[in-house]
Amino acid sequence: APREDCPLDKVRLGISTWGLLHTMAAFYSDNPTDNEKRDMRTFFEVLSRLYPCEYCAKDFRTDMEVNPVNVNSQKDLALWLCKFHNRVNDKLGKPLFDCSKVNERWRDGWLDGSCD
Ligand code: FAD
Repeated sequence: APREDCPLDKVRLGISTWGLLHTMAAFYSDNPTDNEKRDMRTFFEVLSRLYPCEYCAKDFRTDMEVNPVNVNSQKDLALWLCKFHNRVNDKLGKPLFDCSKVNERWRDGWLDGSCD
């Protein structure tokens, strides 16, 4: 494993980025204002241009054209992001995540209390 203080490789960048994105979706408003919606849409559009893995970003932009980000509510955003992450998982041959559990994973902690 690389040292902690070395530049991020694609895997560590991915894990860190998914952590930020899912946590942003977890704490997004249930009832967002037009400004909040616009900001979130802009954030994902800009990220899909600037994500520092060129071919990842290219697929990200193509995917966003087919499946535009849904910023209508916390639930909608978290579900859209979960499905997007699953399309990346699928592309990489990784197991798919059960999106009915996305708020347990990233917002509330597991129902069995194991995160408390
Ligand atoms: P990750 O996929 O990083 O997931 C982290 C944690 O999120 C998991 O442990 C799990 O608890 C949880 N999780 C998993 N799936 C979901 C889901 N659907 N919804 C909610 N939570 C979930 N790598 C490439 O090689 N090629 C690419 O083209 C590529 N594109 C990427 C595009 C983006 C926008 C991002 C953020 C990353 C991309 N990556 C890409 C990196 C890749 O997705 C993984 O982050 C990396 O391979 C490490 O995978 P991992 O198995 O450790 O878990």
